[in-house]
Amino acid sequence: MAFEYAPAPESRAIVDIAPSYGLFIDGEFREAADGKVFKTVAPASEEVLSEVALAGDADVDAAVRAARKAFEKWSALPGSERAKYLFRIARIIQERSRELAVLESLDNGKPIRESRDADLPLVAAHFFYYAGWADKLPHAGYGADPRPLGVAGQIIPWNFPLLMLSWKIAPALATGNTVVLKPAETTPLSALFFADICRQAGLPKGVVNIITGDGTAGASLVAHPDVDKVAFTGSTEVGKAIARTVAGTDKRITLELGGKAANIVFDDAPVDQAVEGIVNGIFFNQGHVCCAGSRLLLQESVADEFLDALKRRMTTLRVGDPLDKNTDIGAINSPEQLSRIRALVDAGEAEGAERWAPACELPSTGYWFAPTLFTGVTQAHRIAREEIFGPVLSVLTFRTPEEAVEKANNTPYGLSAGVWTEKGSRILWAADKLRAGIVWANTFNKFDPASPFGGYKESGFGREGGRHGLEAYLNV
Ligand code: NDP
Repeated sequence: MAFEYAPAPESRAIVDIAPSYGLFIDGEFREAADGKVFKTVAPASEEVLSEVALAGDADVDAAVRAARKAFEKWSALPGSERAKYLFRIARIIQERSRELAVLESLDNGKPIRESRDADLPLVAAHFFYYAGWADKLPHAGYGADPRPLGVAGQIIPWNFPLLMLSWKIAPALATGNTVVLKPAETTPLSALFFADICRQAGLPKGVVNIITGDGTAGASLVAHPDVDKVAFTGSTEVGKAIARTVAGTDKRITLELGGKAANIVFDDAPVDQAVEGIVNGIFFNQGHVCCAGSRLLLQESVADEFLDALKRRMTTLRVGDPLDKNTDIGAINSPEQLSRIRALVDAGEAEGAERWAPACELPSTGYWFAPTLFTGVTQAHRIAREEIFGPVLSVLTFRTPEEAVEKANNTPYGLSAGVWTEKGSRILWAADKLRAGIVWANTFNKFDPASPFGGYKESGFGREGGRHGLEAYLNV
């Protein structure tokens, strides 16, 4: 039976977006030194949301100086005092979460259901979690009096703008570092609202600085001689460039890069539960997820039955207005990302895989891509090897558990994996053999601030989250 859904739009009026924003340096918003600006656009409507300052080298330098100046006092505060600020920030995020969720959905294109129910609760949880650590660092296992590194230069991507900000800023501040953060060019707004939250929380000026701009500003931040620690989340290509810049300096570095996760479904897996997990694994956040389950490995004996159920489920996915509470799949973040997805999907067809998508009407303005799956995929196909970073699933099959693990590990990446089976012993066996930083069993995309996250191989190094996440910001 087909359901007719009435529109259920979240009100836009809750968020007040200014026509322009400056850089947040030393506790104040200011224009870029050379006055340059860029526009940020709502990917669902192509509407210009605001005009934002484009940081140049002089601005990056001013932000790093402000962070350096603030470091002396901030790092000398007792952990219990730093915790108060972090708890305050966490509470303000909760109080303003509806506003921030609407803002994030507007600027990023992700469904409000996800920004409201996944991103924002996790953002607040991250600040609460690391606030709790700030006065307990001597008990974290890194020595009796672990010291901060200094100024952290942090660069984040556009797929989870505020969540990636929280993963970077919360542990840095808890451990006594100060921060210069650069959000992605296509999603600068929630970081600027966060700057306002820092002021609201009375955070001492210079402890957090936000520089909006393009990749050049990111590169300039990485290369700045007074930055002690670089933390980056984004593409493997840019991650490699950053590692080259930092090589030979005494800067510390953590990289969280791409992924091509396998979701392995064994013949004893509960089909309906696994279908939900596969759908969540690849279509959550339009597939703009570094740990997305973008390769489905199906045991051959159940492949046909499973694919039928998966296709049936995919026909019920609702693509459209991110602010509608019924929407499952929102807009692709930018025209550049849309063309990358299209190019890889074209390559999939050209290489002989079979493309399938449910009938689905896409809005005429904005950037959209229908949920898609490919069958007949071989390990050599580009769609089985490269990160598509879109709502596109590549399906492969296997006959034995050994073959499943071998195929899952046959990738330059190693960020995450999923295992679906009723046998606990098989879960433990597979988790032991899978070369991935995180392995989910009979679930997918589960996050918790207490759980460390990070990769193997070309997915990067270092861990974010949990006690392990403290290490990246301590001189241990
Ligand atoms: P990037 O890696 O280019 O962007 C990530 C961040 O790095 C952004 O803030 C970006 O700034 C900044 N940046 C860009 N160039 C440099 C540089 N030379 N030095 C320092 N910082 C830099 O990702 P893209 O947005 O270009 O996406 C390309 C592909 O990367 C996607 O299709 C996807 O496959 C993958 N990706 C993976 C992510 C993940 O979490 N694994 C996240 C994002 C992308 P700006 O936005 O201003 O260019």
